[in-house]
Amino acid sequence: MSVATDQLIRPHGGVLVQRTGARPDDLDSLEAIVLTSRELSDLDMLASGALSPLTGFMGPEDYEGVVESMRLANGLRWALPVCLAVAEAPRGDRVALADESGRRLAVLDVEDVYSYDKEREAEQCFRTTDAEHPGVARLYEQHGSYLAGPVTVFERPEPGFTELHKDPADTRALFAERGWKRVVGFQTRNPIHRAHEYLTKCALETVDGLLIHPLVGATKSDDVPVEVRVEAYRVLTEGYYPADRVVVSAFPAAMRYAGPREAIWHAICRKNYGCSHFIVGRDHAGVGSYYGTYDAQLIFDEFEPHELDIEPMFFEHSFWCKVCGQMATAKTCPHGGDDHVFLSGTKVRELLTEGKLPPEEFTRPEVAEILIEAYRTA
Ligand SMILES: [Zn+2]
Repeated sequence: MSVATDQLIRPHGGVLVQRTGARPDDLDSLEAIVLTSRELSDLDMLASGALSPLTGFMGPEDYEGVVESMRLANGLRWALPVCLAVAEAPRGDRVALADESGRRLAVLDVEDVYSYDKEREAEQCFRTTDAEHPGVARLYEQHGSYLAGPVTVFERPEPGFTELHKDPADTRALFAERGWKRVVGFQTRNPIHRAHEYLTKCALETVDGLLIHPLVGATKSDDVPVEVRVEAYRVLTEGYYPADRVVVSAFPAAMRYAGPREAIWHAICRKNYGCSHFIVGRDHAGVGSYYGTYDAQLIFDEFEPHELDIEPMFFEHSFWCKVCGQMATAKTCPHGGDDHVFLSGTKVRELLTEGKLPPEEFTRPEVAEILIEAYRTA
């Protein structure tokens, strides 16, 4: 680590743990385990250091500690299991990890194979055992045992957006090069409307730089396609943010939709990318009505500040107020709903599908044009 990056927040656990290495000679003779899209994205994050200090897929002690009390076996705080589900124990003590096409990307040195209770994991991590919940559904569908051990990744998946691909070491170097010490991370899986623009800029007013870190891993199929979102971030940042204060980069995680616990997990990952602050909005990483509006903010109270180190920044729902003549929230505007420009997600989709621009107070026209085009060709 260079002198300059020492100015940044330390990675979780103190050092960036990157699990990349050379392709082993005995690769072709190894039994191969095919990973799901969620497991593949976890594998790539283990490779890049985004999941520091994890060295591989979790063993039973780490798993128990995390599920039960959000702690790794060594006491370090952690919010969600990072596990590899298998149907049966492998024969050898080393296996290859492959994608769906059979391409071998990594090896795992087997330390343990253990059974787990899916309903208990669901209840503890997702706060529901309802199979309609997309994260719980995926958990119920997966194999019944977990395979644990350190991984060595020798082939990274092709990034979907080469220009947006930055590992934690890259963002850290970039922040240091710009002289930033305090950096706020913003997670999103939606196009940025004025509400998000407002809160990212409020946050940026108090720190040195902003990392817009859209999630590009697997999401529910009804989320806006990633190519469309990426184009929207590009036009928005080019038109409305100073280039030397903002970085847009892809966050390669798969959505788990675990709400509060995922907010903690997302914050820890961003700390590894070099963020000292992390924006947590209402219903962060939630889905449907499984979580209370502020649950993803309240869960941070269960941690001592030094345990996470990265500082959460909590935001309310924001809107344009016609009387204030600016973006505001219930914390900063005393006026009533009739004075606010509010459109439901359904209404926005309806306008865009009809090729109509939503009000400029709601969405920047450049962003709306991209969404209209996307709906037109969908
Ligand atoms: Zn107002």
